[in-house]
Amino acid sequence: MADPTTATRTGVYFRDGYQCASCCTVDALTFQHRRRVGMGGSKNVPAPVDGLTLCATCNNGCEHAMQDLALARGWKVRAWVTSPERVPVFFRKDHAWFRLEGLNRIRISYAVAMEMGCAVYGDEWMRWQKQVAP
Ligand SMILES: [Zn+2]
Repeated sequence: MADPTTATRTGVYFRDGYQCASCCTVDALTFQHRRRVGMGGSKNVPAPVDGLTLCATCNNGCEHAMQDLALARGWKVRAWVTSPERVPVFFRKDHAWFRLEGLNRIRISYAVAMEMGCAVYGDEWMRWQKQVAP
């Protein structure tokens, strides 16, 4: 996928409080592409809801060891999810779920987050939640 515009990248960092959504660090922040798009979509410029603030370590982890966690927390969405705003995002610094609406984060209850996730992924969503439960 193409790089975000400077305005999108800056806006996403601001929206997310200049902190990694996963580990809360303020260092080495990157624009995580929540949705990996195949070759055909590689020229698409990501919108704010396609992106999330993660540090370089967590960004890399989303593609490797942290994949299940990233799906369960909405940091990453399946490639076929055409509307990433339908998948809620968990921010560790707030210890809460949010839905993304462009450059806004709207806090939602756990129940609403589970409803949103299930509406997109079905039973798989709850399986991921159980897998990553502390
Ligand atoms: Zn991190």
